[in-house]
Amino acid sequence: MKSHVRVAVIGGGVVGCSVLYHLTKLGWKDVVLLERAELTAGSTWHAAGGMHTLNGDPNVAKLQKYTIELYKEIEAISGQSCGLHMPGGLMLAGTKDRMDWLKMAVARGDYLGMDAQLISVEEAAKLLPLIDKSQFVGAMWDPLDGYVDPSGVTNAYAKSATLAGAEIYRHTRVEDLTQNPDGSWNVVTTGGTIVAEHVINAGGLWAREVGRMVGLELPILAMEHQYLITEDMPSLVGMPELPHTIDFEGEIYLRQERQSVLLGTYEHNGTPWSAKTTPWDFPAELLPPNLDRIAGNLEVGFKHFPALENVGIRRIINGPFTFAPDGNPLVGPVRGLKNFWVACGVMAGFSQGGGVGLALANWLINGDPGFDIWAMDVARYGDWATRPYTNAKVRENYGRRFRVSFPNEELPAGRPLRTSPLYDRQKQAGAVFGAAWGLEYPLWYAPRGTEAVEQVSFRRSNAHAPIGTECAAVRHAVGMIETSGYAKYAVFGPQAEAFLSRMLTNRMPEPGRIVLAPMLNPNGKLIGDFTVARVSSDRFHVFGTGGAEDYHLRWWQAHLPDGGVSLRSLRSGLVGLSIAGPKSRDLLARISGEDVSNAAFPFMHYRRMDLGMIPARVGRLTFTGDLGYEIWVTPDYHVALYELLVNHGADFGLAHVGTRAMNALRLEKSWGTWAREYRPIYGPYEAALGRFVSLKKPDFIGRDAALRERDAGPTLKLITLAVDAAEADALGDEPVRLDGKAVGWVTSGGYAHHVGRSVAMAYVPAGLATPDAAFSVDILGERRAARVVDAPLFDPNGLRMRG
Ligand SMILES: Cc1cc2nc3c(=O)[nH]c(=O)nc-3n(C[C@H](O)[C@H](O)[C@H](O)COP(=O)(O)OP(=O)(O)OC[C@H]3O[C@@H](n4cnc5c(N)ncnc54)[C@H](O)[C@@H]3O)c2cc1C
Repeated sequence: MKSHVRVAVIGGGVVGCSVLYHLTKLGWKDVVLLERAELTAGSTWHAAGGMHTLNGDPNVAKLQKYTIELYKEIEAISGQSCGLHMPGGLMLAGTKDRMDWLKMAVARGDYLGMDAQLISVEEAAKLLPLIDKSQFVGAMWDPLDGYVDPSGVTNAYAKSATLAGAEIYRHTRVEDLTQNPDGSWNVVTTGGTIVAEHVINAGGLWAREVGRMVGLELPILAMEHQYLITEDMPSLVGMPELPHTIDFEGEIYLRQERQSVLLGTYEHNGTPWSAKTTPWDFPAELLPPNLDRIAGNLEVGFKHFPALENVGIRRIINGPFTFAPDGNPLVGPVRGLKNFWVACGVMAGFSQGGGVGLALANWLINGDPGFDIWAMDVARYGDWATRPYTNAKVRENYGRRFRVSFPNEELPAGRPLRTSPLYDRQKQAGAVFGAAWGLEYPLWYAPRGTEAVEQVSFRRSNAHAPIGTECAAVRHAVGMIETSGYAKYAVFGPQAEAFLSRMLTNRMPEPGRIVLAPMLNPNGKLIGDFTVARVSSDRFHVFGTGGAEDYHLRWWQAHLPDGGVSLRSLRSGLVGLSIAGPKSRDLLARISGEDVSNAAFPFMHYRRMDLGMIPARVGRLTFTGDLGYEIWVTPDYHVALYELLVNHGADFGLAHVGTRAMNALRLEKSWGTWAREYRPIYGPYEAALGRFVSLKKPDFIGRDAALRERDAGPTLKLITLAVDAAEADALGDEPVRLDGKAVGWVTSGGYAHHVGRSVAMAYVPAGLATPDAAFSVDILGERRAARVVDAPLFDPNGLRMRG
């Protein structure tokens, strides 16, 4: 065994072997893999091996496509067969909602270069004669779909990696990890200790235990999963192979296995496995089958596939595999743990393992995953994602694996967890809540006398009219919006300005002032978008996206100088309410007793104020495009502030406003948001943020690349489209077409109530983004005419917010 290596990968499942292979593929040869038993001895060996490109997140879908296309490559290098079967995939829809969902999936696939298409039930029945046609309304066909041999794939990765120089130590369990002062790790194994510059936790079923070796509680839970294999079916002899099929309403997947059918299901009340600790001596054995648990699903299955009802069952497989709360993998470097990486929680190893390996190897070697992998980034969870929270969410997610997810749907498990001090009052006011980063926040308010419940739909819901009323309150009077969910950071010390100036693209403000400042990676791509307020010469408050707190802290902490700067997340220690609308100034004047005229308290200023008896910091800006203020207090004053605003606000027409209305208001201003318009695949000039990039500053991360982008001109351009929509609006990820061809994609959309237009923001090739250009946007399978709007639909010159 080697004594020193560059990378030690822990875990020889399909994911660890893929990571190992990709490290060697990208040129790092001094890498080893440690496996406690034989390769595949975790979840991998008993997987059904199914794979497909379909994923709710198009960026993950792209990586799934990469994975499937990789199998030929590793077969060729290793000479090891992956047992690749590509009979194509059939997704069966039993309801209109599911058909809507499939229409959206096909449209998304079109701009990702996928070949999926909608087909009729008749056509589906020709491909899969087992079905009862009366149970279905349509289907999707995807030729890039099939299954592999799990052991073949894992060994093909492993052999390809070892041929390139990697070493694999089987029957070598990692028992402990301790860190050296230089950041390298002592990897203590049953076969001796290796010093590794980097450690990658690909421990699959034991990833939690490996995490605990370094004090990390990863949000992962294993669930028992069952599939069965039927006796041989004579009707399959001599027939073309059955497609790999998902029956969404039956919540069943099936495929052909030689002359029989393999059928698996995700039951509603799934059973967690080893909820707290995975035993190290768990052998590569199956769990006892429990047909009763899936009897309900099987009954539906026999109705949908009558040909199966009278076929005997040859074998039942029950095995555990791991999930993160949202079902996507956990990938990347872990904040606060130098040189410690994870590649775990991969529930679809044969669709995603290749993409995970590539992204992680890119990240390690080049400092960037090379793709937009936000949906898989381990930093999307913080310490609020505790083991019990994870347990609740994973069980919910498992039971909903094949359910239709509606864009306006908020799932109940694990909630409420974090609440602001205003939660009960907002509830009384009719709030319908969403949750982000574990925190409850009002989405919209149900009018008095109506139930505070949203009907889930792909179309405009019962929330549409109340949101319109909230928008009107902001544009005509004053709205009050909770802002506690923003990430808030205090950055202070003699080097605070220099540090922020290096991290962010804009010049830092003078004391008492605010600037907007994007953040770039060295490739000049957007990795953040912040509001920076300067409290005093050496103290800043920085506001950003709540859900990206760990993502941003990870980046900043990795770049902190040795001294001179302190960086602290204020998370729940600072809470807020913003007031916005033409009457907001009068309200602020009333509760502060101060001169808050435009001259005395101009736009983009930040100051300490006493509001009633409450000490607060107030910034003159909001995300509504209207005159307005963001008010920040410590949580002990939050209720008092709320009461103060509500009591005095009544005279000015104050209304409770949720984030859905704020979204509608920012759309009519053509303002983007993090994770939609601003992501690490766009440059600042593409995203129309060039005015916040100060190239006069000699040094900030990404400056050279930003300069190149500016000089060469952006490749893409963010545009706003006015869409000729009917009862459904664009939401995000719909293709934008020119003469029928997908040329771009929507990043977000919705109904802009004040201007009365359906709006979509989208990226298209810069050359096509001409004023008034005509495109179409796919909404629920229909191509809707859409025209570029040259200036924000509301207050294009920004007079309202500045006035
Ligand atoms: C019944 C069933 C059906 C499935 N069907 C499909 C399917 O159709 N399609 C699909 O894509 N996925 C399927 N899966 C899921 C798939 O199996 C997983 O996505 C995949 O196996 C995860 O691989 P992994 O490498 O992350 O984890 P694992 O396979 O669990 O591998 C982790 C490895 O790490 C080793 N290890 C852990 N800790 C240590 C340590 N301290 N020291 C040394 N070694 C260690 C373990 O021994 C193990 O070999 C199925 C799973 C099951 C159970």
